[in-house]
Amino acid sequence: MNLILLGPPGAGKGTQARFLVEERGMVQLSTGDMLRAAKDSGTEMGQIVADVMARGALVTDEIVIGLIREQLETVEASGFIFDGFPRTLAQADALNDLLAEKGQALDAVIEMEVDDEALVARITARATCGACGEVYNDNTKPIPADGKCTNCGAENQFKRRADDNEESLRTRLMEYYKKTSPLIGYYYAKGQLSKIDGLGSMDGVKAAIAGVLDNT
Ligand code: ADP
Ligand code: ZN
Repeated sequence: MNLILLGPPGAGKGTQARFLVEERGMVQLSTGDMLRAAKDSGTEMGQIVADVMARGALVTDEIVIGLIREQLETVEASGFIFDGFPRTLAQADALNDLLAEKGQALDAVIEMEVDDEALVARITARATCGACGEVYNDNTKPIPADGKCTNCGAENQFKRRADDNEESLRTRLMEYYKKTSPLIGYYYAKGQLSKIDGLGSMDGVKAAIAGVLDNT
């Protein structure tokens, strides 16, 4: 079972991907996480992408396709969750080819629908645990008063992303509407698209995704 989680920044793709990893043993391939790791590694590629990401622009297709290719060539899994990839039509075509080379196919594309007002509110309130990646939100799941991560117990490791500010978010939304949203029509036409309401509770969204996967 190979799945794409599609949706604007802040739609909750990463949160839901983590559930699928825990509960179904799928492997999450997040190009955002891979790029942040490249950035932290201090390599030449890391320096190039750091600036692009901080602005909220898209990294080149060549770089992200290369990252995904490397993962698909080395990791075996019963299922992949593509989170934040593909983001352009060229990336979508490349993904088809890469899966075909592996003798695999895409089984489902789930579009998480969330309105723009909610996205801005969610993203500017977001924080994660630097140790385990647990996601917190000032409004719905605040950072614990004792400073300890509820998931892994790490103390005061909470981080906010450099691109989770209003200006960069506006660019990310613009990029989403210009370059990524055409994928909705693309996968619809291929008969692979399912839409779910991304605005519900975490458990509600989780159930909606389970509903799609169990009927695929
Ligand atoms: P979000 O979905 O919240 O915007 P991500 O972690 O998926 O966050 O991505 C963060 C940034 O990484 C993007 O704004 C972009 O600069 C870069 N990025 C991630 N995935 C891709 C991709 N598939 N193509 C181009 N750039 C990407
Ligand atoms: Zn943690």
